Amino acid sequence: MEVHGILLMIAKDDNTPLSPGSTWDYAPAPETMPVNLRKQYELFINGQFVAPASGKYFASINPATGKKLTRIAHGTEADINAAVKSARRAYEKVWKPMPPSERGKYLFRIARMIQEKSRELAILESMDGGKPIRESRDFDLPLVAAHFFYYAGWADKLSYAFPGRNPVPLGVAGQIIPWNFPLLMAAWKIASALACGNTVVLKPAETTSVTAMHLAEIFQEAGLPPGVVNIVTGPGETGAALAGHRGIDKIAFTGSTGVGKGIARQLAGTGKKLTLELGGKAANIVFDDAPIEQAVEGVIKGIYFNQGHVCCAGSRLLLQESIHDEVVSRLKRRIETLRVGDPLDKNTDIGAINSREQLGRITELIGSGIEEGAELHQSRCALPEGGYWCRPSFFTGVTSSHRIAREEIFGPVLSIMTFRTPAEAVERANNTCYGLSAGIWTDKGSKIFKIASQLKAGVIWANTFNQFDPTSPFGGYKESGFGREGGLHGLMPYVSLE
Ligand code: NAD
Repeated sequence: MEVHGILLMIAKDDNTPLSPGSTWDYAPAPETMPVNLRKQYELFINGQFVAPASGKYFASINPATGKKLTRIAHGTEADINAAVKSARRAYEKVWKPMPPSERGKYLFRIARMIQEKSRELAILESMDGGKPIRESRDFDLPLVAAHFFYYAGWADKLSYAFPGRNPVPLGVAGQIIPWNFPLLMAAWKIASALACGNTVVLKPAETTSVTAMHLAEIFQEAGLPPGVVNIVTGPGETGAALAGHRGIDKIAFTGSTGVGKGIARQLAGTGKKLTLELGGKAANIVFDDAPIEQAVEGVIKGIYFNQGHVCCAGSRLLLQESIHDEVVSRLKRRIETLRVGDPLDKNTDIGAINSREQLGRITELIGSGIEEGAELHQSRCALPEGGYWCRPSFFTGVTSSHRIAREEIFGPVLSIMTFRTPAEAVERANNTCYGLSAGIWTDKGSKIFKIASQLKAGVIWANTFNQFDPTSPFGGYKESGFGREGGLHGLMPYVSLE
């Protein structure tokens, strides 16, 4: 029986083959609102949508079907030159001289327009990136608007953020973002830069450029002066042309550690400011005094949320030895109930893997885990046909030398290890080149503070995981990067203090 749009539980009769592991199924509940997906997306330079100088376009693929969704402009160095020129002109002539309270009004207007269009933006985000509509609708979009609201409030209060100092904008900011939270990463970067009086050239990730261009439409409709934000789509070389451009005063990069290191080398000695938000391999530490059921839900959220395409995902689970078997058996049961499928279905827990390449990387790392002797546990759920999918998975018997314990998998794959004492937990958690986030699960407040103070991670959640708020700074230690985004700290990379 199919009842569209209604969450209906249907008991299957005895002869119906069950999807493995489940006794109940839901009727499909796809998000049905029509969206304004364009056949082709241009570049956004100087307030106008323009064709790329190369005249070339590339396909953006719907990861849930593996089929072409739309065409995206292939920006090159010539387009970056035009965008930087336009951003410089807008900075000198309009945005810098503008009273800060007026800049704030634009940001408030943009935030409200994002709220008004949030349903359509959420659908486009799920179609283009593969994340479940529940996440794009209930997590990404509210946070996108919240970041614009939050930084709109700071625009005319910067002197309070830096008492006794005179914060001066840097000029033109080049911003390069990844594909896992396309609109949210754009909001993190653009809102703070504009609030501080800078202008922007943004380079979205090549697999998820669609919503950035819809954000550009909002900028246009909001009457944001031409050139204040420019968006140039394209592959890695387009990002490299932006990072290496002489007319840029600051680069903010979010992406992989390998590319981040390259950009750091490229910028060394140029005097340009740089912030890097890079990869992670977070430890989620569960002590034997933790509320186990709550912890298991937190572990599930920490790794399977957004298909594990999360830099701060709790991808290493450190269990106190005495609770290992109980937690593993609960996890086995719980992953069987996670629904992998159509990102636009409101019942979906785990959507599509963002691209064929990313699925290949995840599959290769799962293979390495098996080869190196860890034991793989996977949900038995049926996967949709076509598109890119990965079952929720976890490994037991993992040692710290295994690749799955050291390398970022960036997929729904958890590596489980054990510890005996708090000191061993800290040592294991810090035994990584990354330091973006961590989680602590325990009944004791004093233990939370003690362990948190010893963990080398930029964000630490206690008895929860993957919670975000615009007022809260986010960023890494070690090879997870430097600089903070969000909160008052997120203003600092966009001003010089006189
Ligand atoms: P990526 O480094 O491959 O690409 C990120 C962006 O950089 C894309 O826009 C890409 O086109 C561009 N790029 C690629 N090569 C470039 C070059 N040589 N010069 C300039 N730009 C270049 O990363 P990804 O695969 O898109 O994203 C996944 C990575 O991002 C993961 O490692 C994840 O942990 C990280 N990430 C970190 C954070 C954080 O806040 N720390 C947030 C999200 C994602």
